[in-house]
Amino acid sequence: MSTISDNINELKSQIPKNVKLVAVSKTHPIVDIIDAYNAGQVHFGENKAQELSSKHEELKKDDIKWHFIGHLQTNKVKYIIPFIELIHSVDSLKLLTEINRQSAINNRITNCLLQFHIATEETKFGFNISELTEMMNSQEFKDLKNVCICGVMGMASFTEDVDLIRSEFRGLKEIFDTIKEKYFLKNDSFCELSMGMSSDWNIAIEEGSTIIRVGSIIFGNRNYNSN
Ligand SMILES: *Cc1c(COP(=O)(O)O)cnc(C)c1O
Repeated sequence: MSTISDNINELKSQIPKNVKLVAVSKTHPIVDIIDAYNAGQVHFGENKAQELSSKHEELKKDDIKWHFIGHLQTNKVKYIIPFIELIHSVDSLKLLTEINRQSAINNRITNCLLQFHIATEETKFGFNISELTEMMNSQEFKDLKNVCICGVMGMASFTEDVDLIRSEFRGLKEIFDTIKEKYFLKNDSFCELSMGMSSDWNIAIEEGSTIIRVGSIIFGNRNYNSN
């Protein structure tokens, strides 16, 4: 049986050096995170604010970089702002405004990605281009001083159809390029394209991903019932 550290080393041997690997540890226990950490993994992803803040507190490892990847409610923002490395899932100006407010309270600038809706499923959160345009042109957005927009994130459809997955990733790369050119041309911080999970990370990298978020092929299947 392969171990968590085997899985990490195997994956790292297959991904280019310039692509960041976020190990998605949601629902998995602290001991599994420590196994991955001892194998050299430093970026971890969680999708629930309270689970993330309690794991952060319990682990007490300052060199772990925590990524928030799930839908974030505005009333939970305060729990993660003191320590978060990157929030991948900003999907509204309201959320971004609260991240900015809590970041100011904590005297920091928080790195954020704008999540785009690229999948065919209705349920996935994220901006579309017209919502994005409206936000970018608003004075409220221009006044935010404690957030740094570092790029975009998206999730492909849950399907076996690799052509569909590839075209959705390609679409997200085009969105990234368009936004970069229109709003962030002189801003080196806008450089991250977060796409790719256990089942599609290799397609995502071929289409230009700079950050993959991988859970099950590192930690095994998630058992939501036991949580
Ligand atoms: C759970 C999750 C992942 C990881 O999914 P796997 O299929 O287990 O790799 C990646 N991104 C997001 C947003 C997630 O919620």
